[in-house]
Amino acid sequence: MRRGVTLSPCASSSSRPRATDARGQRTPKNASAPRRRREKTTGKAKYAKRIAQHMDIAFMDDPCATLDLPRSSRETPKLIVYDLDDTIWFPELYMIAGAPFVKDPATKTTTDCSGVEVRVYPAARASISLVDTHEAFSGTKIAVASRTHRGQWARTLMSMFDIADDDGARSLAQCVSFVDIASGTKKAHFARLREASGVEYEDMLFFDNEGENCVDVAQLGVICVHCPGGMTADAWNRGLALFARVRG
Ligand SMILES: [Mg+2]
Repeated sequence: MRRGVTLSPCASSSSRPRATDARGQRTPKNASAPRRRREKTTGKAKYAKRIAQHMDIAFMDDPCATLDLPRSSRETPKLIVYDLDDTIWFPELYMIAGAPFVKDPATKTTTDCSGVEVRVYPAARASISLVDTHEAFSGTKIAVASRTHRGQWARTLMSMFDIADDDGARSLAQCVSFVDIASGTKKAHFARLREASGVEYEDMLFFDNEGENCVDVAQLGVICVHCPGGMTADAWNRGLALFARVRG
């Protein structure tokens, strides 16, 4: 005898006679059943579950994760570009109620006006800190390229996030040399970043959680790394390895 889950027998709706009214007319299906009201989730509340689930799994530091260093200046990008939403931080800005943001001086947590915390991915923070402080990256600048419509919120958050835990640590805004936040395709962002930085596409490395952006920007000759679910040590290491293989 087969073991397993047994589905309870139930007649199909087609085998059941439909109800009729006094004149013998068929009544609509479920006419007598109380109408179930569909709960409409409005505003930012609809993202609450997704935010909570993602926060649970994506922000655990991997104590074994290490960030690689380039082996030579030839294998070192001159400009490292990060997307913001869901690459450097989460939740994405369209998911939250927004400004004013508050930073708790004791815990260093940053929350929006509804109390939702915005967090920087550990590998985003660590890699930006590495580029900002390690001599191997002395010739490397950091940029952000974001298509968010909440540019002011993004700039505010960049100034609120510390890139290291120690007191006096530089903020994300202080570590970034070029900021391009605008609507439109990321190709246009990169054209402006090339103009502003003087760095050629072939010397850039780009991290983005959206594959579509990576496909677009890769057409320019930029080495792109898709990091769905946010920046990770693995994405960083893959990026450096790919850059070294193509440019080294
Ligand atoms: Mg993004």
